[in-house]
Amino acid sequence: MPKSFVFHKLKKRRVICILVATTTRQQLFCLTGQYSRKELLEIRLQEQFFCPTCHAPLLLKVGKVNIPHFAHKTLSNCQHFSEPESSLHLHGKLLLYQFFNQLNFKAELEKYLSKVRQRADVLVDERYAIEFQCSPIPVSQLLQRSKGYQQLSISPIWLKGLKEPCLEGIGLLHLKVHEVAMMQYAGQLPYILLFCPPDNRFYYYSNLFYVSSSRWVGKTKSLSATKQIFPFARPKPLSKEEFNLVMGIFYQAKKQYVRSQLYAGNRVGNLYCRLCYELCLDATNPPNLFGVPLVGADCFKQPAVLWQLLVVEAYEKGIGVDWLIQTGKLTLRESEKEQQAITLTADYLTLYLKYKDDALNNSNILDILYDNYCKNVRKLRK
Ligand SMILES: [Zn+2]
Repeated sequence: MPKSFVFHKLKKRRVICILVATTTRQQLFCLTGQYSRKELLEIRLQEQFFCPTCHAPLLLKVGKVNIPHFAHKTLSNCQHFSEPESSLHLHGKLLLYQFFNQLNFKAELEKYLSKVRQRADVLVDERYAIEFQCSPIPVSQLLQRSKGYQQLSISPIWLKGLKEPCLEGIGLLHLKVHEVAMMQYAGQLPYILLFCPPDNRFYYYSNLFYVSSSRWVGKTKSLSATKQIFPFARPKPLSKEEFNLVMGIFYQAKKQYVRSQLYAGNRVGNLYCRLCYELCLDATNPPNLFGVPLVGADCFKQPAVLWQLLVVEAYEKGIGVDWLIQTGKLTLRESEKEQQAITLTADYLTLYLKYKDDALNNSNILDILYDNYCKNVRKLRK
């Protein structure tokens, strides 16, 4: 890494910009959009501002590019802010604050919670902490912050910052680990909430189906802040056409996976090839019932085709799924998802045994899987 880059990064981390300051009379001064730039320039001549956390003097910056904000006069070690300087973060915090204000919630910007030494981007009704996350954050830190809020009976809500509007529709999504950690659930349907300051819209990555470590298939849909409600609207289940698109992407991913396994070299030691052999299946083209998208299958780390083969093979040998999990043959993404995994595999086996002898084409497998999806969504919503 070149030295200049390291320096730039360090420097950037230490410039902390905020929207709330204290005045000489110990009052809070919030840049929530109530003053014009001209008014702020006048106020700046008469007032001095200090950081509510480290008490260092602040500069009120009223420029043309960024929204008005406070910056520490000197590079500081100011703590308790989750994010380094970014105009996206400042802009988003301000819009979110205004969003809650317009809905008549008690919204507090950059609210410091001394008991847990954390600062929420926006605290809503003293019950919800809105974390608008624009930069990558270690998962351990994200969980730690969530835990801190929960200790105070405050529900954390993570919103991922979007720099620009993104394409809507069904597609493959590449999610980083900290984004996966921001996942919420509507029943067992995982989704991630995003916010895009430039167009003041919320985005949903919803109905997420796990493909492999960083790849998910899901639906991207936006909702204007003027139409959003709070608690935030929950995403809707997929239509049959949308589910068909998900299936298409799943089959592509399955094809890719199969190819990678066939060319992996050591076929004898390859788990996928061995399972196909034992189940007397054509490894180059396993039947349509293997590798299907199912609600709740994000409990497994392995690709759908592999865990589904494992489950069927175990069934034929009279082996229980719990044994597969205990021996690590089936790997879970999180250990507490064992019950979910057991219910899911039982569901999958029922489906498999019911249809395994039918000649299935693309259209009736869509009917079967979509019915199954709807049944699960209904069950989970109850
Ligand atoms: Zn400070």
